[in-house]
Amino acid sequence: MHCSSVKRMLAGLALFCAVGATAQQRDYPIQPVAFTAVHFTDHFWGPKVNINADVTIPYLLEMCRENGRIDNFLRAAKKLNDGKMTVYPFDDTDLFKAIEGASYSLQVKKDPALEKYLDSLIAIIGAAQEPDGYLYTFRTMNAPKPHEWIGKERWKNDPMLSHELYNAGHLFDAAVAHYQATGKTALLNIALKYADLLVATFGPGKEQEYPGHQIVETGLVKLYRVTGEKKYLDLAKFFLDVRGPNGDAYHQSNKKVVDQHVAEGHAVRAAYMYSGMADIAALTGDQRYLMAIDDIWKDVAEKKLYITGGIGATGNGEAFGGDYDLPNMSAYAETCASIANVYWNNRMFLLHGDAKYIDVLERTLYNGVLAGVSLSGNRFFYPNPLASMGQHERSAWFDCACCISSMSRFLPSVAGYVYAQDNNNLYINLFASNKATLHLSNGSVSLHQQTEYPWQGRVAVTLDTVANAGFTLRIRIPGWVKEQPVPGNLYRFAAVKEQQVPVTINGHIVAYKEEKGYAVLQHNWKNGDVITIDFPMQVQKVIARDAVKADAGRFAFQYGPVVYCLESKDNADSTVQNITVDTASAVQVQYVSNLLNGVTTLTTNGTALTHIAGSEAAVAKPVTVTAIPYYAWCNRGAADMEVWIPYRASLAVAKPLPAIASKSRVTVSLKNKRVWHALNDQYVPASSADNSGLYLHFWPAKDTTEWAQYDFDKPYTISQSKVYWYDDGPWGGCRLPASWKLYYKKDGTWVPVSNTTPYNTQKDQYNAVQFQPVTTTALRLEIQLPQNNSSGIHEWSVE
Ligand SMILES: [Zn+2]
Repeated sequence: MHCSSVKRMLAGLALFCAVGATAQQRDYPIQPVAFTAVHFTDHFWGPKVNINADVTIPYLLEMCRENGRIDNFLRAAKKLNDGKMTVYPFDDTDLFKAIEGASYSLQVKKDPALEKYLDSLIAIIGAAQEPDGYLYTFRTMNAPKPHEWIGKERWKNDPMLSHELYNAGHLFDAAVAHYQATGKTALLNIALKYADLLVATFGPGKEQEYPGHQIVETGLVKLYRVTGEKKYLDLAKFFLDVRGPNGDAYHQSNKKVVDQHVAEGHAVRAAYMYSGMADIAALTGDQRYLMAIDDIWKDVAEKKLYITGGIGATGNGEAFGGDYDLPNMSAYAETCASIANVYWNNRMFLLHGDAKYIDVLERTLYNGVLAGVSLSGNRFFYPNPLASMGQHERSAWFDCACCISSMSRFLPSVAGYVYAQDNNNLYINLFASNKATLHLSNGSVSLHQQTEYPWQGRVAVTLDTVANAGFTLRIRIPGWVKEQPVPGNLYRFAAVKEQQVPVTINGHIVAYKEEKGYAVLQHNWKNGDVITIDFPMQVQKVIARDAVKADAGRFAFQYGPVVYCLESKDNADSTVQNITVDTASAVQVQYVSNLLNGVTTLTTNGTALTHIAGSEAAVAKPVTVTAIPYYAWCNRGAADMEVWIPYRASLAVAKPLPAIASKSRVTVSLKNKRVWHALNDQYVPASSADNSGLYLHFWPAKDTTEWAQYDFDKPYTISQSKVYWYDDGPWGGCRLPASWKLYYKKDGTWVPVSNTTPYNTQKDQYNAVQFQPVTTTALRLEIQLPQNNSSGIHEWSVE
């Protein structure tokens, strides 16, 4: 870090401390150590934080400009008058989150040009603010045809769709980050003016709306921490207390927040809310909040957590699914939800001082979060599936760009999760080479870590300067070293080994006691002391409990904190669904420096179910099976992938024999070309509603005529075709079509086939139609969608 930014940061901290000392009676018993005090020198996180700074943040700022995010503010400021607007009223948050990420990044790496550009953006944001402090471009721009989500009056539609308070929360986060990074108050003043309007507007006897998308609660707490003004803390608490009980589970407003004991509804909203509840529990000492989030945390860890740390299993409402309902191919596990899960688990740790929360945090960080961004830093996943048949690929942009801006604002702060402190206790929570200085109650400690974690288990901690000989060092022993992949019994290891974690001080093995998952080391510390920890980095095979149907008969590879997957690029026959691996098979571990920016791969012996040439019969052939870290998948183009590998042979699916349809070129009246392949991938669904495999749908189109077309590899004489319809009623938007019809190509024109059996539309089965034989090179399927719904197709075959 450069000297001038250190001074600025210290000035910011001084303000924080001076104010905090008088205003804050209570707080988290354990305090985080700011990421600005910790500098990665490692080969894992450091490069990722740099790619975020060098690629992702400039990319996001440019995409915000190209995609009208800045224009919205110019329209509100009356500097642009084109009557247009972007797609969603929460689009303001992308610019706020980009400024937040850029500000964090400035604290890690000085960049005067970037700082100047942020100043210009902040000036535009200020110009869009109304005189009383209100800042919400979609209303202020006063478009000729206002967006239908914003409602006629301020705030009234916030519990449903307007996102005014959601935008405010992200503004507050950005303002605090920018102030702490630069010492400049321009954005902070904009935020405080808006926050004061909220204080004047909401509260007992005033407006009573609850925020439709939580985050303003934690944002207000940050303003409280920076200013010491209790009114912001009170309003944060009010926004929690005003929720429920007459709302819905999607918005976590069907009960008062303190009466909620299970995780329900939209996962990002939920995890931001639980983070806000943790803040209020810490800052007010109110035990009811604590009891609620303790129960909810247990519910998630024991019933609703993917092995990747992802949460929010279903795309239906971007929500938590039922207990143990953790489908793999249709997993939603939104990137934003993984990031929110880190925020929440860190707060749970700061409240309780138990390593189990960091176990969840670490798992989420190395797997669920990291998978959200490409190694190149400019492609992004929104949902993060745990299995694929090639239909998934990271995107350059989304109309709803939340996951992209969330990633950019999160990654610069990862160093802030490495350490924590509590009076004279120094916690080491994460392992990565870094240098840090911590100010404990009895004096400061400068130290550095040296390790090749997560690929190697040896960690050396050197105490460089100790002005505090009597501090207690608490080193986290990760749950995966012991018998628990995740706290609780949702997952277990196939083989449990009693693992000792040897700890040395200056080369001498020391005995230590363990408390709440930490090795506790008390010693008369001096400059130059070296502590080593050797984590046993064996490959583990994770088994889910029986209640998780999607993982039955399967296991997942884990090495250290890293979850693995099979990807077709590394395996025989360019597929993975045909592979079986025995849970007892030996595994070789190898670091490959020129693969996927350097990863440790796992190889083992397995079998691949393969057709005997020209026959429907299949045999299991021995193959070498290679696994790569899950976070690195899909960086070599779209691919088949699975995290949960069958050990039960009946679950392996042989690559089907080529058929007319599978050899055809597909085109469909649908923009999303990636799903076209669903029609001829030869995946036979369990039912019309089965969303575990690849299918295509025409939603949101209704009542239109759509088509799909096969261009054959050569002329065939055909007389039958079968369609398996997709229908996700009663919740989804797809139903059986109103009607369908086939046309074949004759002399360049489309001619209806003369069918001899009717065009049926039955659920949960193939619908076959027979027709007079024709010799042709192409077949076209015409579909009339029903009046009030859309339709979809699992599979379409030709014989
Ligand atoms: Zn998102």
